[in-house]
Amino acid sequence: MSEKFLSGRTALVTGSTSGIGLAIARALGAAGARVAINGLGEAGQIEAAVSSVRSAGARDARYFEADLRQPGQIEQMMADINTWSPLDVLVNCAGVQHAVPLEDMPVDRWDMILAVNLSSAFHTMRLAMPGMAERGFGRVVNIASVHGLVASVNKAPYIASKFGIVGLSKAAALEYARAGDRKSGGVTVNCVCPGWVETALIEPQIEAHAAGDSREEGIRRMLAEKQPSQRTSMPEEIADAVLWLCRPQSHNLTGTSIPVDGGWTAQ
Ligand code: NAD
Repeated sequence: MSEKFLSGRTALVTGSTSGIGLAIARALGAAGARVAINGLGEAGQIEAAVSSVRSAGARDARYFEADLRQPGQIEQMMADINTWSPLDVLVNCAGVQHAVPLEDMPVDRWDMILAVNLSSAFHTMRLAMPGMAERGFGRVVNIASVHGLVASVNKAPYIASKFGIVGLSKAAALEYARAGDRKSGGVTVNCVCPGWVETALIEPQIEAHAAGDSREEGIRRMLAEKQPSQRTSMPEEIADAVLWLCRPQSHNLTGTSIPVDGGWTAQ
């Protein structure tokens, strides 16, 4: 298998200005894809993300702006990307979290978390998948979470959004299962479901668990509570699972949710 198996392909990774999304964009770039980058951030952070994807080996990398809370902006972004190059790989990775009890959850936070974590994937998928089916090749990988498979306290909208994206992915996998063939690669839709991954997203939770003690102690307590391996994942390790789903040999791997969680959901 050539390392550049995505040569000639184009990928969009939402939420790729930091964390897991940036690692996925770099991995797809290293496999030879052109990469469309999206996410929030200051100009400097965006430039650094684009140049890091280029230096990972991407044939081209460009930033496409869209606030994913806004369906109109998603439509414009998808049209702009399509003009640049039709999409073969779509990774919905953008996500937000707010951890408080259900009764204290601000209503606008509920709306925002559902919009970014779930509805944005509906919009990118509905706009990208018909073209993938026409060309006989497409890979959609949605970054869900262990919280798309099991629940925890104080994360109602996050968990609702992640269970939602697991369901959305299964529905789309069925609707597109017959597109293409083995030779063209088919159109597949899957979720990757990480446990604890070291990114900015979990810093507030590390701090809460540390409760004034060290960051390391915060991480140790979080792992002890949920993740049997007692090890966090690194963003690059999640990217590796995504890359595997994008390989041509994975044409029959569709409608699944793959936990990368140190045994969290095996309990
Ligand atoms: P992160 O905060 O580093 O990345 C989130 C990305 O989403 C950023 O690029 C951010 O700019 C983007 N984003 C947020 N709101 C947006 C908006 N309105 N419009 C456009 N982009 C927006 O966090 P991360 O840990 O890399 O999270 C990536 C994904 O992985 C999320 O979907 C998250 O739920 C999931 N996840 C993370 C963990 C973990 O432990 N870190 C575990 C399971 C699942």
